[in-house]
Amino acid sequence: MKIPGTGRLRPMIRRAKKQLASSKGLILMYHRVADVDVDPWALSVSPQHFDEQLEVLKSHYHPLSLQQLVQAHKQHNIPKRAVAITFDDGYADNLLQAKPILERHNIPATVFVITGTLGNSDEFWWDALERLLLQPGRLPQQLTLTIDNETHHWDLGQAAYYSEADYQHDRTTQADAAPPGSRMFFYYSLWQTLLPLPEAKRRPIFTEIVRWAGETDSSQPKSKPNHRRTLHPQEVALLNQGDLIEIGAHTITHPFLSAQPLAAQQSEIERSKATLEALINQPVTSFSYPFGDRSADTVSLTQAAGFNCACTTAEDIVWRKSNGFELPRVTVQNWNKEDFSRKLEEWFHG
Ligand SMILES: [Zn+2]
Repeated sequence: MKIPGTGRLRPMIRRAKKQLASSKGLILMYHRVADVDVDPWALSVSPQHFDEQLEVLKSHYHPLSLQQLVQAHKQHNIPKRAVAITFDDGYADNLLQAKPILERHNIPATVFVITGTLGNSDEFWWDALERLLLQPGRLPQQLTLTIDNETHHWDLGQAAYYSEADYQHDRTTQADAAPPGSRMFFYYSLWQTLLPLPEAKRRPIFTEIVRWAGETDSSQPKSKPNHRRTLHPQEVALLNQGDLIEIGAHTITHPFLSAQPLAAQQSEIERSKATLEALINQPVTSFSYPFGDRSADTVSLTQAAGFNCACTTAEDIVWRKSNGFELPRVTVQNWNKEDFSRKLEEWFHG
């Protein structure tokens, strides 16, 4: 190999440095690929739009797996316009809807699965709450719950009755923007009350809410398939089949990790990893923090558990100074290809 003369070396080094500095990638965060009516957290992308989004990635970007991006980031050589896809939580539609579309475009993805629901329940608590409260009909006027010796009381007012028109209107309402006094606002208020509770405390209170709402148990009427369904254990293995989908861990009960004692954090992190490894019979090396929440201890515990990367929900690009255990991600919404293309340009070029 010819060694270039010093005169040519400096510009080459400058150019290489510039390339390193501009080496950046993007990690997309999805949750669901499904056609849904009401979507209080804007978690769903329709199959049609997901297909359009992958078409954009295939035509104008460099899709790669999260692990490839992590490797490239370590070596300071992220390919230009690199994009990795991730899904959080572990909905059945990731297997039934998203995987075939990913396969058609030959684009890899990582699915971070919550393990506590696997084989125990068909839906996450926030989806069960949505099903109970956000469907047309009447609910009792008052709700009183006692949590940690504190009484919480709601008077539903006009929101006790939820008409078909209200329901249709809420197709485009996000929970955190709901007007006070509306059914969606009541949903948001209950969600906020339940959110910080550890799973063991939340479960009995949820049972009370189910009883109050007039359902005998929290399962969906059998006549209707539950589109909010989570993956069954054997479906995690099916999702992992082939070489496009990586299974990552996302804790057991989806808590705010930093609010938990260290031993509980460690258990959430390590046991979710072990459960998934037993299901797919291979190492699980990617992790995603629920709500992106973590402390310095959480990050250390994740590293010590044997993962080689972890994702947050901080909206940013991945660049040279990104921490491999606090990787930023951007949230994708139900955008068509024009809007998605515009967002990608914005994310890459600020
Ligand atoms: Zn999550």
